[in-house]
Amino acid sequence: MKIIDIIKGERPCLSFEVFPPKTSDKYASVSHAVSEIAKLNPGYMSVTYGAGGGTSDYTAKIAAELLSYGVTPLAHLSCVSSTREKLSAQIEKLKSLGIENILALRGDIPDGMDKENLEYRYAYELIDELKRHGDFCIGGACYPEGHPESVSVGKDIEYLKTKVDSGCQFLTTQMFFDNNILYNFLYRLLRTGVDVPVVAGIMPVTNASQVKRICSISGNTLPQKFLRIVERYGDNPAAMKQAGIAYAAEQIIDLYANGINAVHVYSMNNADVAFKIRSMLSDIIA
Ligand code: FAD
Repeated sequence: MKIIDIIKGERPCLSFEVFPPKTSDKYASVSHAVSEIAKLNPGYMSVTYGAGGGTSDYTAKIAAELLSYGVTPLAHLSCVSSTREKLSAQIEKLKSLGIENILALRGDIPDGMDKENLEYRYAYELIDELKRHGDFCIGGACYPEGHPESVSVGKDIEYLKTKVDSGCQFLTTQMFFDNNILYNFLYRLLRTGVDVPVVAGIMPVTNASQVKRICSISGNTLPQKFLRIVERYGDNPAAMKQAGIAYAAEQIIDLYANGINAVHVYSMNNADVAFKIRSMLSDIIA
């Protein structure tokens, strides 16, 4: 099924993200977590693509497993570290496995890479490539607080318009911890004529060490309410996990209440976290 049809449906959509293992010895445990999360009847599940494409086989394999569980997979694919040939092979592989939905990403530019001689520089070029290969439902990434490389959120949104105009049918946001940041962003998207559905990305922060990492990667604003929780419970792993899940669930309920129909949970292969979030929404997503 195409994700665009799922997120435009009547039922609020809750989806989960998993990431493939880097090495084969970890495959069984990741596969187990994926099968447990799949039991939660998510709208769909996304499978990330390791930086540089090192885990491309596992991304495809896990996406195919999801299909066998009756869950719609969204396979991530990045282009910046790839050649046309490699990318073409991966797209054909996904197609042959019956994967219909792809999140088209540029990927981070590895340190030391020669930026002048890249075969792909931006995600919209991957979208052009995907359209040449078949009838995929194509998603893209967006950044309510601006992409770390962009000069401003406004400029970022201009480029986002190019991405959408090239065939990106829906967007998934980078994580955010203050829903007002998303609401302001959505307003700016509409003003710029970016009118595709936006899936809100929510990260349940379940341990204090994640917080520093999140900020260094994505430059997120952390609201006082969130920082108080980390200050109070950061040294108590069980309490921090419970508080982080409750914070994420509260964000999700507020999003649904404000008309956002699709929420994607960065569940990081953690079936327990996915299960608890799903339980807290049991009557909201009946
Ligand atoms: P783009 O949309 O190409 O944007 C990259 C930068 O270029 C932005 O600053 C943008 O403003 C600018 N730009 C875009 N178009 C133009 C243009 N025409 N001219 C000039 N500048 C332009 N990474 C992975 O490696 N694997 C994953 O599985 C993965 N999943 C992700 C999922 C989500 C929901 C998100 C939000 C990010 C994910 N990432 C993943 C990270 C992503 O690859 C990086 O953030 C990357 O740096 C940007 O990718 P993009 O697709 O947003 O790039």
